[in-house]
Amino acid sequence: MKRKSNLQTHVDPFKRCSLCSHEWKTREDFLNDRHNRFDGYQCALDRVREGLPAEGLLIFTHCQGRCGTSLAILASRFKAEIPAG
Ligand SMILES: [Zn+2]
Repeated sequence: MKRKSNLQTHVDPFKRCSLCSHEWKTREDFLNDRHNRFDGYQCALDRVREGLPAEGLLIFTHCQGRCGTSLAILASRFKAEIPAG
C-alpha cells in the first residue's frame, strides 16, 4: 500500500469523460453543463453481481464536439445535501 506523502491535497473531479477527458470538478459543474443530456436511469447490475446493494445509475450523454459517449454516474452521487422541506 502506497501512502501519499505530498501535502498538496488532490481533489478528484466529480466526473471525467471517459472519451474526451473533460472534467467536471463538482456536481454543480456537471449539472450546469448544457452539453450533458440526461438519457435515463438504469440499475447498476454489476454491483449486484459483486454482492453490493442494488443502486441506480443515471445515464448522461456528453454532447460536446465530437464526443457523444455515455456517462454513467451512481444516483447516490446526486443525493443532494438540500435540507428537507
Ligand atoms: Zn466527452
